[in-house]
Order: sequence, then structure tokens, then C-alpha cells
Amino acid sequence: MASIVRLPLPIDRHWDWQRWAACRGMDQSAFFHPPGERGAPLRAREERAKEICAGCPVREQCLEHSLSVEEDYGTWAGWASGSAAP
Ligand code: SF4
Repeated sequence: MASIVRLPLPIDRHWDWQRWAACRGMDQSAFFHPPGERGAPLRAREERAKEICAGCPVREQCLEHSLSVEEDYGTWAGWASGSAAP
């Protein structure tokens, strides 16, 4: 579980990078698996998410954020939780 005590302060410069995220405004279900998703459907969804992340201009900030708050779920910066580091 992500630790909310590690979240950045509610100051816009800590979150501003998200304005340029390739996933901004997208359906976030591409980045988080639904309950019970396994096997080929899981891999296909993660690959779609990773393709989006590959072209994201704030991938480095996204990865830094996800590591700092210890995100346990989702695909962040092309790194799906439970997979090897990008
Ligand atoms: S790297 Fe991926 S998850 Fe992170 S902001 Fe960009 S598109 Fe979104």
C-alpha cells in the first residue's frame, strides 16, 4: 500500500509535472488492473500502458514519484508493479 505520509506537500510545484503527462485525461483503467485480471489480458493491458509511458515527457518525474511513495499498484513510468525496474 502506498504510504500517504510520503506524498509531496500540497504545493503545485510538487505536482506540476503531471500537467504534461501523456496519460493526463485518459481512462486510468489502462494503468490499473481490474480485480481478477490475470495472464494474457493482464500482459496486454500492461503493454498498452507501457507504450503510452514510453512517449511520455515526464516519465522520469513519474518514476521518481512512484518510487518515493512506494506505489504498489499500477503502471508508472512504464514500470508495472511487480515487474523489474525499467
Ligand atoms: S510515465 Fe506513464 S504513468 Fe507516468 S505520467 Fe507518463 S504516461 Fe502517465
